[in-house]
Amino acid sequence: MLRPMNSSFPHLLAPLDLGFVKLRNRVLMGSMHTGLEDDPRKFPRLEAYFAERARGGVGLIVTGGFAPNIEGWAAPFSGRLTTRAAAAKHQPITKAVHAEGGHIALQILHTGRYGYHPLAVAPSRIKSPISPFTPRALSARGIERQIRAFVRCAVLAREAGYDGVEIMGSEGYFINQFLAAHTNRRTDDWGGSFANRMRLPVEIVARTRAAVGPDFILVYRLSMLDLVPDGSDWDEVVQLAQAIERAGATIINTGIGWHEARVPTIATSVPRAAFAWVTRKLKGQVGIPLCATNRINAPEVGERIIADGDADLVSMARPLLADPEFVNKAAQGRADEINTCIACNQACLDHVFERRIASCLVNPRAGHETELRYEPVILRKRIAVVGAGPAGLSCATVLAGRGHHVTLFDSATEIGGQFNLARRVPGKEEFAETLRYYRRRLEVTGVELRLGVRADLPLLRDGGYDEVVLATGVLARNPGIPGADEQRASGRVLGYADVLLGRHECGPRVAIVGAGGIGFDVAEFLVAGPHSTTLDLPAWQREWGVTDPAGARGGLAVPVITPPARQVYLLQRKATPLGKGLGKTTGWIHRAALRAKRVEMLGGVNYESIDGRGLHLSHGETRTRPMLLEVDNVVLCAGQEPLCDLYQPLHMAGISVHKIGGADVAAELDARRAIDQGSRLAARL
Ligand code: FAD
Ligand code: NAP
Ligand code: SF4
Repeated sequence: MLRPMNSSFPHLLAPLDLGFVKLRNRVLMGSMHTGLEDDPRKFPRLEAYFAERARGGVGLIVTGGFAPNIEGWAAPFSGRLTTRAAAAKHQPITKAVHAEGGHIALQILHTGRYGYHPLAVAPSRIKSPISPFTPRALSARGIERQIRAFVRCAVLAREAGYDGVEIMGSEGYFINQFLAAHTNRRTDDWGGSFANRMRLPVEIVARTRAAVGPDFILVYRLSMLDLVPDGSDWDEVVQLAQAIERAGATIINTGIGWHEARVPTIATSVPRAAFAWVTRKLKGQVGIPLCATNRINAPEVGERIIADGDADLVSMARPLLADPEFVNKAAQGRADEINTCIACNQACLDHVFERRIASCLVNPRAGHETELRYEPVILRKRIAVVGAGPAGLSCATVLAGRGHHVTLFDSATEIGGQFNLARRVPGKEEFAETLRYYRRRLEVTGVELRLGVRADLPLLRDGGYDEVVLATGVLARNPGIPGADEQRASGRVLGYADVLLGRHECGPRVAIVGAGGIGFDVAEFLVAGPHSTTLDLPAWQREWGVTDPAGARGGLAVPVITPPARQVYLLQRKATPLGKGLGKTTGWIHRAALRAKRVEMLGGVNYESIDGRGLHLSHGETRTRPMLLEVDNVVLCAGQEPLCDLYQPLHMAGISVHKIGGADVAAELDARRAIDQGSRLAARL
């Protein structure tokens, strides 16, 4: 039951009257492709996924994108809505959302030259940097066919029971490609002047409105900041917004950055609400409600945006994957129980790019609602969980939430395991939210927490536990470089934990051994100044070259980089480019950030020895080109080994024992697997 009047978020939770329909609050669940859209046989899963979010109180849901025709496909056989038979298959989804008191709109997404298939079409025959396929330039008749496809898709959405549609006009997709001179070189009525370039979206909106009638929500997602060279300037944005309003849109949603833009727009290092100022600029220029987007992940952030008058709604996509109950918790005075999206992209966007079903690192049930269920237990067991890192925390809280009696041990004095290191990296401040969530969740579920206790065989064997779960994590690998142990005593050689916990200050020249996720993070830590730009929006904008589109097309400026705090060398033995194994959608950001700070990245090296002068290297299999890096410190980030020495003795003692997270397998371990494994084991026991 929502209690907006008593809540701390009165603006966020206030209803929005659109005239013909009233949204119950100002939270729009932004469109997010999950992969479940692509196969109608997966629609029951999509239904459960949306129903859970509607039950959680969100005002208006927007589905992942559905193409209006085959040319508009994101990839072969991805989701589309083109026939009445297909529309009928959506009805259980819309009914389920309505049964929970929610509203839902279908996003119509035509990808244009971003389409990953040979049928892609665009205003001009210009290949995008992110697809191998060169699009076909449309004839005037071809353009007419695309408009009719949009209109028909909206009519079918209405038949399917949707409350509206969102027309995707941003992020560099088809409609956006007509708007920017960068991608539209036409000389007919659809190119040249801005009046011609904006003809397509205006026609689509006007004709859709005429076809669906006045009482149907029509959201238009408008690219307000393209972040590409030759993108729209602010006068064009305003001109388009006003024309879209006149053409019959109900709401204008904000689009930030084309997919090919080289500025991060949603990653964890982007400051919270970093682009609300863009939506604010449009306030007063149109009369219909505006929706702000990007890196809005907490109710206080959404509240501030609406209370300050920056926008009338806020869009959150990933935060509702992380916590379907986000809105209800905010409304019920339980905001501290929200499982916050940390903007890592690891289980949502990265999965989509790998053609896997999207889920969420902090909530493995997302996208798996029908299969991963946390049912109340019939037989209450006493269970010990050893290790309060991500694996142990997820396991203990799900077990206790189901009704088991759980004792959670950690030898450290605070929960979190390696997440306590991760949260210290500039740009990873959000990781602290996961620990806040678990701290509260341990209280709510009644886990008995025993910090500062190293669990050993007698304690676990004699404690009367029905089950023991080992989530003891990992040990940093010692790469055994000659001389390293002696230099460790003098503080020249350091472990990554020494550096991140501030146990040792590094000198002005540092070499990092190992260029995995942790090596990159340590490099970012070492080159950053005393303040994280993620917590300082103007500084972040300067470093990435983001500016007001009133003065610069696309909102791009020349980046101004603060000099690095020290010279850093990042090393690996493989000859492949450094950072190749980082996240699909975020690796380029880490690489670009380190390049900007002049970090020297060296691959294909052998570590010969470390002495008082520095790190001795050679190159390649033949160990040629000897080289001395004269550095003050060498930081070891050479991967990890499982820490699980309790398993065998417990097993031998006849205890039912399980391993999860790093304690199970350290190779390619990340928090996504640790939390997933912990939750799945807890659902079974
Ligand atoms: P751990 O987090 O290592 O936790 C194990 C816990 O067990 C520790 O708290 C330890 O004190 C405790 N313990 C061990 N033995 C005992 C005992 N006998 N008794 C009691 N307690 C014991 N992953 C990502 O997915 N994304 C990232 O962006 C990311 N960034 C990272 C950045 C850094 C700098 C680091 C260091 C790691 C990062 N990781 C990231 C990796 C992620 O933190 C780990 O994969 C995850 O923490 C592993 O979880 P775990 O629970 O298995 O082990
Ligand atoms: P990792 O990604 O496996 O990288 C280990 C690095 O050490 C590699 O560069 C490897 O490169 C090197 N290495 C391995 N054995 C070595 C040896 N014997 N001597 C010298 N170098 C050696 O592990 P990690 O960086 O420790 O990260 C641990 C986990 O945390 C990873 O799985 C990662 O997914 C996760 N994490 C993720 C992120 C993220 O942003 N998503 C950030 C941090 C951590 P060579 O073998 O080529 O030398
Ligand atoms: Fe947010 Fe990461 Fe979950 Fe994606 S995987 S929804 S970015 S927490």
